[in-house]
Amino acid sequence: MNTPNDPTPPIRRRGLLIGTGATALAATAAVGGIAAAQEDDTQPEAPAVRLRWLGTNAWEFTTANATVLIDPWVSRFPTGAYTEEGADPETEIEVHEDVIDEHLPKADTILVTHGHWDHIADVPYLATRTGATVLGTETHLNLLRAMDAPEAQLSQVLGGELYQFDGYTVEVFRSSHSASGEHKRILFGGTRPGEVPKRPKKIKDLVEGGSLTFMLDFGGVSFFNAGSANFHEHEIAHLRPTAVFVQPGGGHTPGYVERLLEATGFPPYVIATHWDDFDKPLTEPAVPGGDVEALRERVAAASPDSEFLLIDHLESHDF
Ligand SMILES: [Zn+2]
Repeated sequence: MNTPNDPTPPIRRRGLLIGTGATALAATAAVGGIAAAQEDDTQPEAPAVRLRWLGTNAWEFTTANATVLIDPWVSRFPTGAYTEEGADPETEIEVHEDVIDEHLPKADTILVTHGHWDHIADVPYLATRTGATVLGTETHLNLLRAMDAPEAQLSQVLGGELYQFDGYTVEVFRSSHSASGEHKRILFGGTRPGEVPKRPKKIKDLVEGGSLTFMLDFGGVSFFNAGSANFHEHEIAHLRPTAVFVQPGGGHTPGYVERLLEATGFPPYVIATHWDDFDKPLTEPAVPGGDVEALRERVAAASPDSEFLLIDHLESHDF
């Protein structure tokens, strides 16, 4: 459904995929009236890329040939991350293999944006089960090694790489994690170069380890993702993705949303990510952990022709 204010997307929009029950209805309403059904009566084409949200910055991109995951983390154990005290650093890491199996059946490539538990903790098990290639920094890979990830699948990157996979390319960019507090510190900051550290047991053991951003290009449909509310403007200023991911936060990143959208050419689609309180269940509609309506308004003001997509837990959008 197009309104007079809608942009003309460069690709045909095939509508939202519907999950089940109230979640699907809520999500349909939340995206502001994107047609829930197909746009016409003809047999729908197979989607070029199906994008599915698994909470936090966990995204699944599926094509006819491949499944790519960014920051796949679904185990979810209570940390207090969205309380006033913040996440308890002493929280023990839990990996719920049954939950991973249920929600993440396939992976060919796994992209890691940084080393925090809510991005990386499920990757060793997933990589082992799927045989997927894993891209990350030296620290990310060392943390994964310490959690028994399969060595032969780990690909160390530092930003600047452009790799061809089966039907898509991945370009890697240097980045930084968002900072917090008066001294601009990074939560669980630090690196683990060289020797593989001892096995991470608590969430504080999963240090940030440098941050990366990724441009994932399926040929005509492309996505730019940063796992944190920060980015290196000059690294990405030439990118023209179909969709860019934005998240609440970035209070120490001046013009986080505005500069990001300008640097990426005001993309046709802007997708909210990492906006849920991840102490709450993945199998229920997302409980906002940040002000997603403020984010929507900020995007609308900065890039009025972009369509803001708020995809709910376990729901999909076809590109
Ligand atoms: Zn983080």
